[in-house]
Amino acid sequence: MKNIRQIIEESGSITIAQFMEFAMYDAKHGYYVNKNPIGKDADFITAPEVSQLFGEMVGVYCVDKWMKLGKPKKINLVELGPGRGTLMMDALRATKHVKGFHEAINIHLVETNNYLREAQRELLKNYKINWYHEVYAIPDNIPLIIIANEFFDCLPINQYIRHENGWQECSVSIMPKGEEFFLMHTPILAHFSESLTKEYPKSKYGSIVEICYPAISIMQQLASLLNKAGGYLLAIDYGYYHDPLERIHFNGTLQGIKNHQFNPIFSDIGYSDLTAHVDFYALKQCALVNFCSVKEIVTQRDFLLKMGVEFRAEQLLAKAKSHEEIHEINAGLTRLISPAQMGNLFKVLEISSQGLGPSLLTHQKR
Ligand code: SAH
Repeated sequence: MKNIRQIIEESGSITIAQFMEFAMYDAKHGYYVNKNPIGKDADFITAPEVSQLFGEMVGVYCVDKWMKLGKPKKINLVELGPGRGTLMMDALRATKHVKGFHEAINIHLVETNNYLREAQRELLKNYKINWYHEVYAIPDNIPLIIIANEFFDCLPINQYIRHENGWQECSVSIMPKGEEFFLMHTPILAHFSESLTKEYPKSKYGSIVEICYPAISIMQQLASLLNKAGGYLLAIDYGYYHDPLERIHFNGTLQGIKNHQFNPIFSDIGYSDLTAHVDFYALKQCALVNFCSVKEIVTQRDFLLKMGVEFRAEQLLAKAKSHEEIHEINAGLTRLISPAQMGNLFKVLEISSQGLGPSLLTHQKR
């Protein structure tokens, strides 16, 4: 199997997406294939790992949607990128007393990482679970509720930079016989460059647009799944929501994370996480043009407050047995909803199949 150096040397340079694809998903070297990325002893912590409140509120959301669907006797509960399985476990525990809900759900997990699949199998051993590698394998015969927390930010992005005479692709190259990787700008097709200028007419030279093609393709598949089977998708991630027509000066958001610290993107390839902020505007437009309904995008803070996170925290506090436990519950809640922490950076996108939500073509500005 070729290593990243051979791959780049053969072609001179590769796109950032190809670089991420290798670093994240290469069968032998990829970060998201065989390692545990999540937890205090690993590279990053996610909301469900911060506090049980998060998964519980997602459970509340799922029950609400199941009821809105008319309490179908059978429903597929799907999670994309379930990590250690903590969110699903907390959601299931929080909903076990809801009459008929557990009898109705079939659980489906989409996961590429073998290490994490084992962790999910262990944690969720009392439930019947179906695993898939790809979204297209999710069954479409009955209604579904799909959850995706910190899933879209893992997917490879391409970056394009605006110059005086058009746009170029940001690509990765390597010094001849050297160790150093570096970024260079390579030409793109003229008509693609023109279409970027039309899409980002106000962008200043030096601005970097990120396009996550796999996210768009997965969103298309999810939209058609929803329209066929009926149901809802809840996607939570750190990201931004800007109309491209109005964007003026913007930078790329690609970053490396290792041991809870930022890490240069070319360091520890395959052993350091690479992520980019999610373009919620693009995901929303994609769902809309694929005939789904989309709710106004809200912050994680507003979503959790609406689901009743403070009420649930009070219940937990009333049962807490030690000062440490009280501190842990309060600290977890603060981290999830404080605007200075995860509260505002994380956004929530809620999509439903045609006919279930407000009609949304009116939301489309263009
Ligand atoms: N949702 C979890 C984990 C987030 S980390 C949590 O909140 O804790 C991202 C998750 O997505 C991991 O489980 C990772 O292995 C998985 N993943 C990354 N890329 C994937 C892909 N292309 N298809 C399916 N799962 C993927």
